[in-house]
Amino acid sequence: MSKFNNLKFQNESFPKTSDVLNNSPAYNEKKKADKINLIKKLLKEKDAKIIAHYYTHEDIQEVAELTGGNVSDSLEMAKFGASQSSKTLVVAGVRFMGETAKILNPEKKILMPTLDAECSLDLNCPAPELLKFRQRYPDRQLVVYANTSAEVKAMADWVVTSSIAVKLIEYLNKKNIKLIWAPDKHLGNYLNDKTNANMKLWNASCIVHEEFKATALIKLMKENKDAAVLVHPESPKEVVELADVVGSTSQLISACKNLPHNKMIVATDNRIFYKMKKAAPNKILIEAPTGGKGATCISCAHCPWMAMNNLDNLIETLIDEKNEIIVDETIRKKAFISTNKMIDFAKTL
Ligand code: SF4
Repeated sequence: MSKFNNLKFQNESFPKTSDVLNNSPAYNEKKKADKINLIKKLLKEKDAKIIAHYYTHEDIQEVAELTGGNVSDSLEMAKFGASQSSKTLVVAGVRFMGETAKILNPEKKILMPTLDAECSLDLNCPAPELLKFRQRYPDRQLVVYANTSAEVKAMADWVVTSSIAVKLIEYLNKKNIKLIWAPDKHLGNYLNDKTNANMKLWNASCIVHEEFKATALIKLMKENKDAAVLVHPESPKEVVELADVVGSTSQLISACKNLPHNKMIVATDNRIFYKMKKAAPNKILIEAPTGGKGATCISCAHCPWMAMNNLDNLIETLIDEKNEIIVDETIRKKAFISTNKMIDFAKTL
């Protein structure tokens, strides 16, 4: 059995997605078109590109696509940023994604529509606490998920995203390198099960995936016997065990397109449906059930921090060049080593 640290979750203080969405601007088609035109003009003027995550609002994903930007998972976001010659990158996602862009592109200006967009994994893995945990296992290397701060990446031996995590842990395990994994306990458990790496696990979780519930999913599966079940490995083990496909966001989009099923039950942030519908326009997509609805769930299958990105704050950021990501240069240089190792490892696959 894996041992967890005793860090207390801070979930009580996290924003609720329903509150964020209630306070977000809504536009009709005409207003949306005007805003997209303004963004196009501003991106040209500022020599900027948008890098957006699959979990952001479809308006953000659409404008990124329309303007030669990128919509992808954390690994591809990092790779895309590094491949661009533009002076400025606007990262629509959560803070660690902006920091990763800065770590890899120190010469570029990295802006975000909001600096309030956090991540429960990052927030529940403070560097000083993780350092103490690490010191308990001096014979082990530290692998951290990309969903961590620059400080945490700076102390890690490896950074990894969910799209290549199994491959990296298999590779290190074959070399008999003992490991500590942080911060996502569900992904860590999944990796231990897949690879027998017996990593020591940090105790944090994603508030979106944590809410998917196996009992309700079994009921939904019985009502939709012809559906394939697609699950992100940040979900609890009982939910992962029900999946036809377990994978990163990009892998789930591919599965949605390539599986023969016409119906998919999807256990990840529901904003991924924008890209799934594009990849497989005729398929029926169903949200996997969460712990509750409205008042009883924090996220209801959509990340509250991802929901903070909208066309209005994207425009403000571009006009004022505000919400710049700054990373201390000593930390950045150290974080570059572990993050760039991930990019190099991905090239070998
Ligand atoms: S969906 Fe989960 S892992 Fe992703 S940013 Fe939100 S809280 Fe973090």
